[in-house]
Amino acid sequence: MAKSVTEQVRNGTPVDGVDVLGALSPSRAGDFKTCPLMYRYRTIDRLPEPPSPDAVRGTVVHKVLEDLFDLPAGERTPAQAESMIDAAWAHVREDDERAASLFADDQDEARDSWLASCRTVLAKYFDLEDPTALEPAERELYVETLLDSKLLLRGFVDRIDIAPDGAIRVVDYKSGRSPGEGFEAKALFQMRFYALVIWRTRGVIPAMLRLIYLGNGEMVSYAPDEQDLRSTERQLEALWAAISRSTESGDWRPSKSRLCDWCGFKEFCPEFGGTLLPLPVKAVLVHQGPEVVDLDLDE
Ligand code: SF4
Repeated sequence: MAKSVTEQVRNGTPVDGVDVLGALSPSRAGDFKTCPLMYRYRTIDRLPEPPSPDAVRGTVVHKVLEDLFDLPAGERTPAQAESMIDAAWAHVREDDERAASLFADDQDEARDSWLASCRTVLAKYFDLEDPTALEPAERELYVETLLDSKLLLRGFVDRIDIAPDGAIRVVDYKSGRSPGEGFEAKALFQMRFYALVIWRTRGVIPAMLRLIYLGNGEMVSYAPDEQDLRSTERQLEALWAAISRSTESGDWRPSKSRLCDWCGFKEFCPEFGGTLLPLPVKAVLVHQGPEVVDLDLDE
């Protein structure tokens, strides 16, 4: 979910005031893994991107699911959730100018059809979980940890459930479809990232990582172990080393894949006949500094 750190209470966290090598969220780590040039345009150049109906739908549905658990358990019904969509959409428009510009004033039909798709996606949630039987321990939780290498990991976890025996389940809602065969590892990378942060901050390895795909009503669950999380830590440090090398060399190569279909930077991408933009020198200097990086923790 698009969420700015400043929206959340994070003053006085353990790593404030500590020099960091750099900072990564799962989405920015995923950007670099997908395409270094996309990472550069999004994180260093901070180029504006057009609002995406899919992304804004995800934000609205997440907002409803977050607010739903404020209600007493017996009121968390499909009808109640559906009735909360308009308020969530109003909240998202108010909060995010890009989302507010998704539909022009004369696009009532397109907007209504899109709102109907929000209802369809939200309804799928009730096929997968019974929110009347759940009491999440945390929702939209900001988490961060500083690795021994001084790499700061941070992000927002959609939901954490804690069983009576203390077992932790980390849950993430996706408004899209579950990944096809061979792409589960990429989806689980984000969850391993969160599991690593929780392990480092709470000293407990989450018993379960769960991705809830509302686009096609599927769940992917995975039980991480210590070896997984140590490997994730090494991968993230290697990723940051690669980002640092690109920062120093100025070489942010495009990496073409089927994910280019969703990229908003094609006009500046040589792989699509676009002209590479010059690096913004000031942005590079800021990127290299300790205050760095990645204040937008989109999921
Ligand atoms: S269009 Fe593809 S290759 Fe080009 S910047 Fe975007 S993701 Fe990278």
